[in-house]
Amino acid sequence: MEQLVDPFARRISYLRVSVTDRCDFRCTYCMSEHMTFLPKAELLSLEELDRLCSAFVRLGVEKLRITGGEPLVRKGILTFFEAMSRHLASGALNELTLTTNGSQLAKFARPLADLGVKRVNVSLDTLEPAKFAEITRWGRLPQVLEGIEAAKAAGLRVKINTVALKGVNEDELFPLLDWCAREGHDLTFIEVMPMGEDMTAGRLDQYWPLKDLRARLAERFTLTDLAERTGGPARYVRVEETGQKVGFITPLTHNFCESCNRVRLTCTGELYMCLGQEDVADLRAPLRASPEDAGLEQAIRAAIAREPSSRSAAGSASRAARMRSRTARFASCSAGPDSGSADGTGSRDMRDVSRPSAGGPRFRARAAGRLYNARSTFTHA
Ligand code: SAM
Ligand code: SF4
Repeated sequence: MEQLVDPFARRISYLRVSVTDRCDFRCTYCMSEHMTFLPKAELLSLEELDRLCSAFVRLGVEKLRITGGEPLVRKGILTFFEAMSRHLASGALNELTLTTNGSQLAKFARPLADLGVKRVNVSLDTLEPAKFAEITRWGRLPQVLEGIEAAKAAGLRVKINTVALKGVNEDELFPLLDWCAREGHDLTFIEVMPMGEDMTAGRLDQYWPLKDLRARLAERFTLTDLAERTGGPARYVRVEETGQKVGFITPLTHNFCESCNRVRLTCTGELYMCLGQEDVADLRAPLRASPEDAGLEQAIRAAIAREPSSRSAAGSASRAARMRSRTARFASCSAGPDSGSADGTGSRDMRDVSRPSAGGPRFRARAAGRLYNARSTFTHA
């Protein structure tokens, strides 16, 4: 079957799939404490997810990353992994992997390994129990550490994803690095994005550009840039003194389009062709329109064929400018609640989103939509 190739001749071989919007944590940078989740009918069933992912595999996707919300809280999720493992067995899929908060790993690590999962990304921002509870609101560190242990014991390779939070885990940069070295885990830092409802001054103060984090690392270690790319937005360095590989994901400050070959599917069947841009295709309608897959495959091809014009030189530049403007707004917001923003509007925009009294119902609905979109498409890690 003809493979998926976008208008810039890049073969689309990496699909990241959100299987739920639900989660058992409420990380401050990701969700509000009192979330309203989507009605169940809007979510794709596990059978529909199977059909959709299998269509992508037929069209040439070789790497599948499962995410959420928290993928392991979706009821019956092992059935879905089992369904996907048939594509590993046939050789159509090279890798089946997931990003998880680790809370359910103690239970699922072994079955996942048995189904052919070899690697897992676990999000962990701190090794201090009280801080962990504060960041995740509902999470408990020992449960996650137990999950990570279980993953290791099951033979899964673990990569830790750490969101860099100024004034929160800044002091744990080296302890986290040391712990990962001792435990044999890879480590990737993620620059925090301006999401989550609570964009109050405290949150805004937490923006820690990864260039600053990297400079801090370089004060103690020799960092060598690696050419290695994994099809996504991470860039890697080798820490010469320890031999560790450390990744950096800077969604707001880097224009990584040119080297990214992944597309993202939300739990409602929306296909996003590019992180941070709004080009989206609805695949749920063609999926539900017919039990046959011909229409679905055609819809996937059509979506990929209109990969973002931002990959053209002009588009790319304007997208980069948009991202820079968002970052400037976030960074300027972090100067404090009364600070101005780079473009004179951003700071207000950010804080309006967080304040129940701001903007009126229509504005708040729009803001909430933006946050949901941001989270459901936030699929880089
Ligand atoms: N629940 C799973 C987890 O936490 O790993 C998977 C979904 S979560 C949305 C995927 C990744 O996004 C996690 O590594 C998380 O830390 C990261 N993330 C969530 N909100 C973020 C934000 N505002 N800025 C940067 N990274 C964020
Ligand atoms: Fe849940 Fe992951 Fe978001 Fe935290 S980052 S609230 S664990 S989906």
